[in-house]
Amino acid sequence: MCISMDGLVDYHTHSVLSDGSGVYEEMVQVAIKKGLSEIGFSDHICLREADWAVSSIDLPVMTEQISEIKEKYKDYITIRYGIEMDYFLGEESRLEKIINSLPLDYVIGSVHFIGDWNFDTDKSLYGKWDNDELYHIYFELIQKAAKSKLFDVIGHLDIIKKFRVYPESNQKALFEQTIKVLKESDCVVELNTGGLDRPCNEFTPNAELIKMCFAHGVPVTLGSDAHAVSQIGRHFDIAVDLLKETGYTGIVAFNKRGRNNMKI
Ligand SMILES: [Zn+2]
Ligand SMILES: [Zn+2]
Repeated sequence: MCISMDGLVDYHTHSVLSDGSGVYEEMVQVAIKKGLSEIGFSDHICLREADWAVSSIDLPVMTEQISEIKEKYKDYITIRYGIEMDYFLGEESRLEKIINSLPLDYVIGSVHFIGDWNFDTDKSLYGKWDNDELYHIYFELIQKAAKSKLFDVIGHLDIIKKFRVYPESNQKALFEQTIKVLKESDCVVELNTGGLDRPCNEFTPNAELIKMCFAHGVPVTLGSDAHAVSQIGRHFDIAVDLLKETGYTGIVAFNKRGRNNMKI
């Protein structure tokens, strides 16, 4: 099925400034071609030294390039300035300082690290805990990230399953508790469509969690997690179908960290 992407946003994209392969202009041109209403850039910002994140000296470059491209394409598409920021427990004031230094439209908070272990890229420590325990550690970090109130959006909510790592027993209570915290903390959840192309082969979060988000009144937005321009808006037709089936009638759009509802 092919849908129009008019009225849709893609808020989770990476450029060459972090670990993507495209430059902003190429990304914008693809977004226009695909008919998206908005594209947001969300390059990685990480307090740890990481070659996949924007280096601190590139932060002013990022701000300048985004402000130029916003202006250049303003008659064709709305461009938003976001970041995907790694959450680190106990380092909230350092994170806040960076966030406040940038003229952002939104901030995606993601958990890719447990302590210093980047479980998103390094498979070596899976098996150190049983999976139920690992899920508890991960979702408790998600809850802390939400409660920090630093982030507008929680990124790929159940990314701990990326390498097909699933709990041994039913974790519905943990998921429910987490989603309640998201609601209380006024967080938006992104339906990250990139998961479908990862080993887990399903959206992050999956349909079960999206249903729980809806039941608890947690709003959603959309992101492809594109690291190549061809991935912009990927699987959005399936994503919109899932959201509508679940009961959602709109997604959240951001402007200078304020929110608007866009009908789907
Ligand atoms: Zn991520
Ligand atoms: Zn990402």
